[in-house]
Amino acid sequence: MNSLGKERCWAEIDRAALRHNARLAQERVGPEVELLAVVKANAYGHGMIEVAGALREEAKIFGVANLHEAEELRASGIPHPILILGPALPEERAPINQQGLIPSVSSFEEARRFAGNRSGINFAIDSGMGRIGCWQGDALAELEKISREPELKIHSISTHLPVADEDTGFTREQLARFDALVRQIHARLPGNYKVHVLLSAGILGFARYAFDMVRAGLLLYGSSPLPDEQKFLRSVMTLKARVVLLRDLPAGRSVSYGRTFTTSRATRVATISVGYADGYPRSLSNRGAEVLIRGGRCPVLGRVTMDLTMVDVSALSQVALGDEVVLFGRQGTEEIFVAEVAERAGTIAWEIFTGIGSRVRRVYMG
Ligand SMILES: *Cc1c(COP(=O)(O)O)cnc(C)c1O
Repeated sequence: MNSLGKERCWAEIDRAALRHNARLAQERVGPEVELLAVVKANAYGHGMIEVAGALREEAKIFGVANLHEAEELRASGIPHPILILGPALPEERAPINQQGLIPSVSSFEEARRFAGNRSGINFAIDSGMGRIGCWQGDALAELEKISREPELKIHSISTHLPVADEDTGFTREQLARFDALVRQIHARLPGNYKVHVLLSAGILGFARYAFDMVRAGLLLYGSSPLPDEQKFLRSVMTLKARVVLLRDLPAGRSVSYGRTFTTSRATRVATISVGYADGYPRSLSNRGAEVLIRGGRCPVLGRVTMDLTMVDVSALSQVALGDEVVLFGRQGTEEIFVAEVAERAGTIAWEIFTGIGSRVRRVYMG
């Protein structure tokens, strides 16, 4: 492996773009609102420790999925508060309290287990997500019980939006409903807890409901859940591979497993060093996916295999062994967005990022 990792398949990660995207989120919600940077799932495949390091200044607090991720982040020397977004298992409660990590709880009963936690709890309210949290109608009563416990501190109160990028009508109504609930909570429960609701699509589409803190995930990594906002973000990850073989096939040759594609004319085929084991989804097979080589778009031929993929390079005037291939990101004046790859694969950008394989070396720049 050479120093840049440019061997077979690697991901170049642009720290300056990360900071640009974090600053854009901050601008959208205003300077008074705290930015929680979501770095769960290895920072959406970008490398949790490196991403948190790059966002030390921009982020006030970090969000992770579970205790294991929180411990790894703390061990890296990050001094920020860490909020665990998902529920804790019973045996995880003691270490969460000992390390002052902020758990998300869904009831008074659950909250009691975190008595003495110096950082406090995040009280999650279900206002339509149906995943975690106390049902909105019971939230006030549960919070009043929590506030009577002297050893229990409330760090924050939150809810989550299930359709911020799909259903503006529902989201508007949900936000107005939650806003009314927050007014009631503030009236009955004085204190300096923080209220937070917005994920990336919320930050980009509903910034006036930022409350005290927002939880930015996908947008930090340069992919917008709202297509109109993509132009304001900078892509952070460029996924690259190389041309490992060039072959000239006559008409009538089948390509790859399943023989799902047959050449209809003489075709110059490049075999490239990426497959589904690297996170280039097999579901991209025969779906019109393209890659960039020498600044041009080249169609994927037949099925994506575990380690190798075939592409049509007939339209390129020049191509050579070892040429860089961009699976997503920019090359020259062309750019393939993760959202485009996700759509062709029948999935979402979040799943593409988190599916980038462990053998793909992450290379940091900027
Ligand atoms: C993962 C997560 C986020 C981040 O969502 P994005 O759409 O990636 O910004 C925000 N809030 C919660 C509770 C999450 O679990």
